[in-house]
Amino acid sequence: DGESSPPPHVAVVAFPFSSHAAVLLSIARALAAAAAPSGATLSFLSTASSLAQLRKASSASAGHGLPGNLRFVEVPDGAPAAEETVPVPRQMQLFMEAAEAGGVKAWLEAARAAAGGARVTCVVGDAFVWPAADAAASAGAPWVPVWTAASCALLAHVRTDALREDVGDQAANRVDEPLISHPGLASYRVRDLPDGVVSGDFNYVINLLVHRMGQCLPRSAAAVALNTFPGLDPPDVTAALAEILPNCVPFGPYHLLLAEDDADTAAPADPHGCLAWLGRQPARGVAYVSFGTVACPRPDELRELAAGLEASAAPFLWSLREDSWTLLPPGFLDRAAGTGSGLVVPWAPQVAVLRHPSVGAFVTHAGWASVLEGVSSGVPMACRPFFGDQRMNARSVAHVWGFGAAFEGAMTSAGVAAAVEELLRGEEGARMRARAKELQALVAEAFGPGGECRKNFDRFVEIVCRA
Ligand code: UDP
Repeated sequence: DGESSPPPHVAVVAFPFSSHAAVLLSIARALAAAAAPSGATLSFLSTASSLAQLRKASSASAGHGLPGNLRFVEVPDGAPAAEETVPVPRQMQLFMEAAEAGGVKAWLEAARAAAGGARVTCVVGDAFVWPAADAAASAGAPWVPVWTAASCALLAHVRTDALREDVGDQAANRVDEPLISHPGLASYRVRDLPDGVVSGDFNYVINLLVHRMGQCLPRSAAAVALNTFPGLDPPDVTAALAEILPNCVPFGPYHLLLAEDDADTAAPADPHGCLAWLGRQPARGVAYVSFGTVACPRPDELRELAAGLEASAAPFLWSLREDSWTLLPPGFLDRAAGTGSGLVVPWAPQVAVLRHPSVGAFVTHAGWASVLEGVSSGVPMACRPFFGDQRMNARSVAHVWGFGAAFEGAMTSAGVAAAVEELLRGEEGARMRARAKELQALVAEAFGPGGECRKNFDRFVEIVCRA
């Protein structure tokens, strides 16, 4: 006794691409606040460009300076200096190669130096950066990965070798077969599996990364944070994951962790006036359309969608990157603006939009963050999945949870009009909305005082800080 251990120093390792780093930062912020009483400090590790983006986003939203016990630590991006613009998949490959070649070990040393020599006591990190597992082990610290997508997708990644053995080279012939011999995956068909699990290019950077991650997690994780809430995943999925992974801790949707000082009190940035426009629309009458930050329909499908929205006669708010606007049908933007029937914007404050009482339907690519944002706002959805885990998420929405429908393949004008009308005015749509509202209530309870996600997050803090 008498020898008090030094306060925890938690290294948080980000995957510095797409929206991943921002999600991890929100967890790091919540962790910093919760662990402050123990004297814990956090080092948030990401590349220069990623940290610059996060700083910019932080200063754009009021009251979002970094907590005093959270510091940014810059890590190299692995790219050769002064190379011309590198495509994102190549950047990811260089970053992962650097991480794997002992990079993470050096990053943890940089974190230690930045913390005045305080040893790293725990490594929390985006599960994608699986080489952090070995680096943590050699630093004598546990590795606690954070999974940002759906639980069923994680299950597909930790079972990839078994799935490949089962499906072999028959993926194309077995697309409609349900995966009944794989615990937790019986609701999904071969075609629903994420890209690169049993089909696609196994060596494509992301596919390779999630495969290696799936092999690494069961052996190396001390605990795994899950972006879900108790009551969402069916019991067989929860059980199958618990069988393979130690200490699964569900405390999602992660975007709600900081809700008190975020969306509820601070007005979200809304440079294109989405919320004001929504304020002029009928209650639950608007279809909100967004395919996230990466997916983009082909030009012909984009025109079908536009025609379908016009045909549905429902007011619509469409977040569409500006480079696609020229692909819209002639006169579409003018008609929408002229009649006030639609608003097309390059970016929308999606969380606030989905919470707005005028929004009654969500046409989405079924990215996991979008699905969670939709369901925690009680909005039923029509899913048009494109790649990655989106097909699996869409399958869950339509066939496991029943709070939405899924397009099989490309959208047609008639399909869009029918789906939007059903969601806004149909009987089936009313059942989907009721289901979404039930889950919305579960989320609210889980994040309320003493709720399951609050308790699980406390448990997560305990695991991370006791090391
Ligand atoms: N998003 C937003 N405004 C937009 C488009 C997207 O705020 O106009 C946000 C959305 O709320 C979500 C994220 O971007 O949090 C997209 O994540 P998701 O996992 O759904 O899809 P991804 O972009 O990763 O494919």
